[in-house]
Amino acid sequence: MALQFHTVPVTPFQQNCTLLWCDQTMRAAVVDPGGDLERILSAVEERGLTLEKILLTHGHLDHVGGTAALVAQKQLPVEGPHREDAFWIEQLPMQAQMFGFPAVETFTPDRWLEQGDTVTVGDETLEVHHCPGHTPGHVIFFHRPSNLALVGDVLFAGSIGRTDFPKGDHDTLIRSITEKLWPLGDEVRFVPGHGPMSTFGQERQTNPFVADKRFG
Ligand SMILES: [Zn+2]
Ligand SMILES: [Zn+2]
Repeated sequence: MALQFHTVPVTPFQQNCTLLWCDQTMRAAVVDPGGDLERILSAVEERGLTLEKILLTHGHLDHVGGTAALVAQKQLPVEGPHREDAFWIEQLPMQAQMFGFPAVETFTPDRWLEQGDTVTVGDETLEVHHCPGHTPGHVIFFHRPSNLALVGDVLFAGSIGRTDFPKGDHDTLIRSITEKLWPLGDEVRFVPGHGPMSTFGQERQTNPFVADKRFG
């Protein structure tokens, strides 16, 4: 029995929308449905999965833009992000206009997440860690049994999230990475919000923004 995942890049920002599923129950969550719902739903169908919820890392358009439409189509509960990102979600129609996306509707999550919460996908449980800095309400999902983390725009292979948005903060982001992510273990593999996967250990060695030698 295990947690499986598959990543579908969506939107002009090539955001990694990730399907997570429990192979015991074949029940699945869509993490960060930024858009391109047909592609997400065909990945669900190909694998014979039953969608049970939407999980969100943070309130940016490229991560949540497809949420209202997916809820309308499939009646799924929405869990995350942290309440501090409510202002981003309320501003979705404006974000869409700003980035030249088709009009999107806003929504209200059924459950805001906090540090120490857990979320379930089928029979599997993931930990929630609040990692502000890129946005104030950013959360990451960690599946301890398989050492897999979905970190949204906190950390990328070789880079870190932007902090030049309203309520973004560079020092806060660095602390989120070094004090919340690194303790989860060097061997943790992570799916970032954009680009290829990596491990925390690899980033501690080579990421120019957060490598250990920067602080040593
Ligand atoms: Zn973002
Ligand atoms: Zn993003």
